[in-house]
Amino acid sequence: MHKYCLECEWQCSTSDGRTEAEVSKQAIEHFVKTGHTVDSLRLPPPTVRLN
Ligand SMILES: [Zn+2]
Repeated sequence: MHKYCLECEWQCSTSDGRTEAEVSKQAIEHFVKTGHTVDSLRLPPPTVRLN
């Protein structure tokens, strides 16, 4: 899971060694502290279109 902020450079990902629960908690904390909208990304990055 990867979570990122739509309004600043904040992001948090399970690829950093965190559990999904920790990532979710960090995202909530960021929202509570800043009021920023945090979006999440479960899918791998979109593939480049070949046409
Ligand atoms: Zn933010």
